[in-house]
Amino acid sequence: MRPTLLNPLFAPVTSLTGIGPKLSIALTRLLRGGGSGSGIEQAVVGDLLFHLPSGLIDRRNQPTIMDAIEGTLSTIKVRVDRHQPAPRGNHRVPYRIYVHDESGEMALVYFRGQSRWLETQYPVGETRFVSGKLEWFNGRANMIHPDYVVSEENFDELPLVEPVYPLVSGVSLKIMHRSIATALQTLPQLPEWIDPSLLAKHHWPSVENALDQVHHPRDDLDISPHSTAWKRLAFDELLAGQLALALVRRKMKKSAGKSWQGDGSKQTKIVDALPFALTGAQQRSVAEILDDMATPDRMLRLLQGDVGSGKTIVALLACAAAIEAGGQTALMAPTEILARQHFATIQPLAETANIRIAVLTGREKGKSREAIYEQLANAEIDLIIGTHALFQTNVVFKNLALGIVDEQHRFGVHQRLALASKGGGADILVMTATPIPRTLVLTFFGDMDVSKLDEKPAERLPIQTNALSMDRLDELIERVRGAVARGEKVYWLCPLVEDSEELPITSAESRYQTLEQLMGQNVGLVHGRMKSVDKDAAMLDFKEGRTRVLVATTVIEVGVDVPDATIMVIEHAERFGLAQLHQLRGRVGRGAQSSTCLLLYKSPLGAIAQDRIKIMRETEDGFRIAEEDLKLRGEGEILGTRQSGTPGFQIAQMEHHAELLEMARDNARLILHEDSELTGPHGDALLHLLYLHSKDEAVRLLRAG
Ligand code: ADP
Ligand code: MG
Repeated sequence: MRPTLLNPLFAPVTSLTGIGPKLSIALTRLLRGGGSGSGIEQAVVGDLLFHLPSGLIDRRNQPTIMDAIEGTLSTIKVRVDRHQPAPRGNHRVPYRIYVHDESGEMALVYFRGQSRWLETQYPVGETRFVSGKLEWFNGRANMIHPDYVVSEENFDELPLVEPVYPLVSGVSLKIMHRSIATALQTLPQLPEWIDPSLLAKHHWPSVENALDQVHHPRDDLDISPHSTAWKRLAFDELLAGQLALALVRRKMKKSAGKSWQGDGSKQTKIVDALPFALTGAQQRSVAEILDDMATPDRMLRLLQGDVGSGKTIVALLACAAAIEAGGQTALMAPTEILARQHFATIQPLAETANIRIAVLTGREKGKSREAIYEQLANAEIDLIIGTHALFQTNVVFKNLALGIVDEQHRFGVHQRLALASKGGGADILVMTATPIPRTLVLTFFGDMDVSKLDEKPAERLPIQTNALSMDRLDELIERVRGAVARGEKVYWLCPLVEDSEELPITSAESRYQTLEQLMGQNVGLVHGRMKSVDKDAAMLDFKEGRTRVLVATTVIEVGVDVPDATIMVIEHAERFGLAQLHQLRGRVGRGAQSSTCLLLYKSPLGAIAQDRIKIMRETEDGFRIAEEDLKLRGEGEILGTRQSGTPGFQIAQMEHHAELLEMARDNARLILHEDSELTGPHGDALLHLLYLHSKDEAVRLLRAG
């Protein structure tokens, strides 16, 4: 199906000369985030082309020997005076070549230098340009292993400006340059898919020129996300994404929805059974959802609400309405812990309202699983709560009215489609706890209708957030002990499950051991590598108070609800992103007691970690935190890693390209409006774009009609 023109770009990197299986593994790790055995497919030529520079090596500085600044890159014009080869058999003494210019003398130093090669490179009496870092030893200038040496005639061969790329071990910069250069040679001439008027308006180059420009920069501007070349490439990526989302949405909308309108009987019973009143935002969101479900169009709605804003109950009320109207409903959570927790919270409420409810995860096996399948097929279950087990083909509903996906952005478009296809025209509600800024909503969800829970349940006390250095661990442990003695509950978060040789970090397992020695039976442990039964047991022990300190990894990041937990300790807080810290902190402050979040860090703190902790202390507003997160990530905190901070993108960076995203969305709309099946010549070019950015799935939807 993929246009043959693109084949060279989808060939494995090993198809390029000079790239063997070993290098391919390293490149795959770099470009796709997976090594051998990770199940990730080998990197392809296109991945190399879209691996954009993160900086420049600048050799334009051409000082004299005496003016060269120690340790900075300099390109110096010198005359070769004499060779001083290393004594035979002694590799510790280097080969030295003495050179001079009008300002003074310098030695070029080669360890294990090949005399024959050096003699041809540096004929005595001739002029050469050498480029490298100059250093001073004992009052003498040295350049150790110059990066380049060229004659005057060949000066053009010296790259005065070279791009730098994010690398991994096994892929040096030289290898990267060579690989990208070879990859560029295989680039076919692609049809232009961007509207000519857009191209002209923004002065965007063609794809070929854009790639050439970013990989052969002349100055910093060429590798900036604000260059016309980079913007063009980012726009391509965003346009492909927006087109794909629009096609998915169209497909979903096409399967005609049904009108589901309840009589309110079950909803009333649930609301009456709640120990609290709904917030205004909850009431408004429920009303929006019910209105949407009542129309014969299919609902595609996003329920956005910060941690603790009370999405679960909104979901349950929407289900109740659908059930009143005679439909079935499904609530899907990303982890088993969450699915079970939802089940536990919802079950008593469902019972009061006569809703038949069941849970389905990987754990239900054999006969009980078969029984659930059968009851779903016969509409004997009204509400099924589960993990992605719900996507499986054996799961057949008699009459699915509403599918709800919780904590969404962990699921991809595929899964959304799978759920949607379960129920003909079932309404879809996607809930997200991570308050994502508007720009990201667009990238992940395209044009969905949005309901917002922008008000927290009343009576929530603010969470006191403090940062303290690891040196004060003993003090902290005392404090936790005191809290436990008063009957409080404490989460203790660690970044890793087990100790690792590479990272000097206390793992959850060893922290558990230390705390257990100090506090005994009060301490529990939960992490992602435990069996799910054991995870549940640990969660339940904590919830019901049999343990009072729960040492955990980020498995508890999303959704876990133990309202009487009051202290959240986050160890190595410097290793977590802002959004994650916010999610984790949201596990406390859910009940009537005041809560504390303690960010334990290893000093000295980097600038970005400092900023993050400051923001965490300043605000609990998830939307503000999400915006700040985006800004901070824009500063490219970990050098040498992929620059694009925006997950799911290779080129586009939301902090720089938000405008492009809006443009891409509008453009995608216009395109599908004018040529809904992408059959014209422009449509054909756009198909190339979709395939180029691996939106094969979306093209299939198009073809399926
Ligand atoms: P999230 O939006 O993070 O999924 P939950 O639905 O888990 O939030 O709700 C968080 C906590 O707030 C739960 O303990 C829930 O019972 C409680 N809660 C929900 N709505 C209200 C409300 N209107 N008033 C008081 N507490 C509420
Ligand atoms: Mg939740």
